[in-house]
Amino acid sequence: MRFLVLFLWLHVALLALEFSLVKKETNTSEPTLLVVGGIQGDEPGGFNAAAILAMRYAIRSGNVWIVPNLNFESIIERSRGGYGDMNRKFAHLDPSDPDYEIVRRIQSVITDEQVDLVVNLHDGSGYYRAAYIDEGHNPQRWGQSCIIDQSAITAKAYGNLEQVAAYVVDEVNKKLVDEEHRYHLRNTKTAEGDTEMAKTLTYFAINHNKAAFGNEGSKEFATHFRVYYHLAALEAYMRYMGIDFSRDFALTPEGVKAVIDTPHPVTLFEKFTLPAASLRPVLRYVPIDRAKKPFESPHPLICLVPQSNAYRLFYGNNRLSTIVPEYFESDDSLHTFGMRIDGAARQVQAGEIVEVKEHFSVDPIEGYRVNVIGYTHPKGIETGVTLTRKALPERFSIDIEGRIYRIEIYKGERFSAMALVRFVR
Ligand SMILES: [Zn+2]
Repeated sequence: MRFLVLFLWLHVALLALEFSLVKKETNTSEPTLLVVGGIQGDEPGGFNAAAILAMRYAIRSGNVWIVPNLNFESIIERSRGGYGDMNRKFAHLDPSDPDYEIVRRIQSVITDEQVDLVVNLHDGSGYYRAAYIDEGHNPQRWGQSCIIDQSAITAKAYGNLEQVAAYVVDEVNKKLVDEEHRYHLRNTKTAEGDTEMAKTLTYFAINHNKAAFGNEGSKEFATHFRVYYHLAALEAYMRYMGIDFSRDFALTPEGVKAVIDTPHPVTLFEKFTLPAASLRPVLRYVPIDRAKKPFESPHPLICLVPQSNAYRLFYGNNRLSTIVPEYFESDDSLHTFGMRIDGAARQVQAGEIVEVKEHFSVDPIEGYRVNVIGYTHPKGIETGVTLTRKALPERFSIDIEGRIYRIEIYKGERFSAMALVRFVR
């Protein structure tokens, strides 16, 4: 019985970690680019670049398909691959391999008739150079290169791999921050006997008559620098294919860093929304109805993973918090309730994050009990009491800065709603 419970738990976890396929389409008869990030979870430049393409670019002509989190489990584990290197599983794969379903599913995306060109994003070691210069700059290194398996293939479009790659390399080299970062074209000549490269996603693609390229950032850089070069390359592919796009940030290393650091909301168990940044490492006694959908976020790298008695919340390969639940059945009858925010009355939505400058109070709600976490009224009444930031001990905040506090509302034994107040000064 114990084993069975464990098995079901694991199954839920794996379901939650399926990869996303984001389709940004304008006209399916025009070219379609497929971008894959996260085939190896210890290469955050690649999967963050793919996620930013999904979240912050608008496509105005042509089509872009994005898989930002192919090996999601390895991303949260910060490993190259929990069951071995997924990028060696595209030639032959035993159906008993834990990665089998993921590999089969991405293969069917790659071979979709609509896909014209595939880019697989990697963060490589050092700096690739055609001739040996030193330990960090030589033909064994992968960083800062555009990879092709051979010069040309027979394909519906873009079979001139070497020409496409040369264009991309030139375009990236117009955006170098430092001469050492110079991009190079690398032809692995896989068909001439590179048995390792023959097992990769890109080689699978070209054998199915799809133009395919590996794009390597360098592990020498901080993540935002890697992302900067990945995006420079992806923009070059889009320009080559006539895909018109816009983005809402500046393509500079600083601009990319600001995008990565933007806090994204995540809704948990359909009841409350957390800003996915600056959370305390552990949040305790969080009311959760496990019959609800565990999480929802517009960001493809955010996920919630069950772990024995808790849930781990991740943004890419950063763990944002561990949430220790207190399980409740829920009541869904309360949608709004009254508060006074800095003296002004207003209706607050269940699940809302309310900004407060000085003080707030919650109006009494007939039939419900209000609990402001951190505040204890001698008579157990927590409505109609004006609370400042000072009235709430900092250790009860959900964030490390001591600004965000929970208001929980119960009906009898059932958990009805949560809202957060954030002190903004
Ligand atoms: Zn890689």
